[in-house]
Amino acid sequence: MRRHRHAKIVATVGPASASPERLRALFLAGVDTFRLNFSHGSHEDHAKVYAAIRAIEDETGRPIGILQDLQGPKIRIGTLAGGRLDLALGDRIRFVPGGRAGGADAIPLPHPEIFASVAPGQDLLIDDGRVRVRVVGLGDDAIEADVVTGGTISDRKGVNLPGTVLSLSPLTEKDRADLAFGLDLGVDWVALSFVQTPSDMIEARGLIRGRAGLIAKIEKPSALEHIDDIIRLADGVMVARGDLGVELPPEDVPGRQKELVRACRHAVKPVIVATQMLDSMVAAPSPTRAEASDVATAVYDGADAVMLSAESAVGQYPIEAVSMMDRIIRRTEQHRLYRSLVQATEPDVEDTPPHAVAAAAAGLADAISAKAVVAFTLSGTTAARIARRRPDVPILATTPDRAVSRRLSLYWGAHSVISEDVASYEAMVARAEEVAQQEGFAQAPDLVVVVAGIPFKTPGTTNNLRVVELGRSGAA
Ligand code: PGA
Ligand code: MN
Repeated sequence: MRRHRHAKIVATVGPASASPERLRALFLAGVDTFRLNFSHGSHEDHAKVYAAIRAIEDETGRPIGILQDLQGPKIRIGTLAGGRLDLALGDRIRFVPGGRAGGADAIPLPHPEIFASVAPGQDLLIDDGRVRVRVVGLGDDAIEADVVTGGTISDRKGVNLPGTVLSLSPLTEKDRADLAFGLDLGVDWVALSFVQTPSDMIEARGLIRGRAGLIAKIEKPSALEHIDDIIRLADGVMVARGDLGVELPPEDVPGRQKELVRACRHAVKPVIVATQMLDSMVAAPSPTRAEASDVATAVYDGADAVMLSAESAVGQYPIEAVSMMDRIIRRTEQHRLYRSLVQATEPDVEDTPPHAVAAAAAGLADAISAKAVVAFTLSGTTAARIARRRPDVPILATTPDRAVSRRLSLYWGAHSVISEDVASYEAMVARAEEVAQQEGFAQAPDLVVVVAGIPFKTPGTTNNLRVVELGRSGAA
């Protein structure tokens, strides 16, 4: 079973998609990696979903990625005296420490760090930025603020503090427990929310110790200030436009998306564009024109993956949303302007042999209209380096490592296959033919380009290229 597109689909699992039947239908409709959102759900719920996804892998023989998204230090107000509070422009309000309101006009804020780090003139945004208040003074154990954009707030709504670097670890106690649980389950990726500094990444890496890939969610302006180091310390990146678009003016987000996609491609790290991509499909069977255009833009930018959040987690049309995303990606990649647009953001070839060989493989395969590049890859990096060139032909990533094959399901253009390690050049050619044929990519007398690192079994080497005509090598 193969997908007829290069960009991948990540779908968030939630009540609308958690049953084994739904998960199966979503996979068949096009999901490459499932996201388990640990902001919601019990460990028991996540374990069930995990087992159901692995059962789909067994049934279909296709590796599927599972991404654990940790909640992170999401700041929320406490419970209000009346359950809700109307805030009108010009109102003077007070935030008080603790989880419960003392008086009718006080908003409880159970995060002592905030009382230590805010200053007059700064804005606090409540409920995904719907309500905005500006700090005017720090009273006795209280923050005084004026309402700049009014609205009604209710218990436990989220709070954003744009421009404030809080001394918060991105791993709360809950995150640490969730992470240990997820790693025991065997998740392929862990996404870290509200990353602010490179040291946040170092802390997470120390806990994960290579058992899963680490994805940095870019949703704080402070992360953008250290972006090169954060990308270097990450195995992948998520452009988390939901929170990023609250922390930054919305008009800044599209440009940031383009910068992040380009930087990740340069660094050979997969990048996911996330949030509100087909948002109206939460309640309608078809997207707005602007949403279709948004998905296409991420594909033209060269993103590795696009993501569904509420659409697949709690929406009324989860399967339709995945099918729609699949159709938009395919149509975009077939468009006559696609190649020139995606190549416009192509990074320069680096002058190391692995990069140059991978780039040559991509160019060669396109030049001779090969049906696939077959990459023998232990760690996945050979496949990732080829994908970086965004070739026309699919990348058949052949690896003996199940964990690597699952992770590759997030990478642009990669169709991963688990296959025993080869020990000789002849065995490599024969295996490449066999895999290309079995997976339905090529048949005699089609051409494939085979890429490997020789000597075999040395991760990270990419130094060998071979054109193989199926049925003619003498090895098969
Ligand atoms: P979230 O992250 O859905 O966990 O908030 C994504 C985003 O902020 O865009
Ligand atoms: Mn977020």
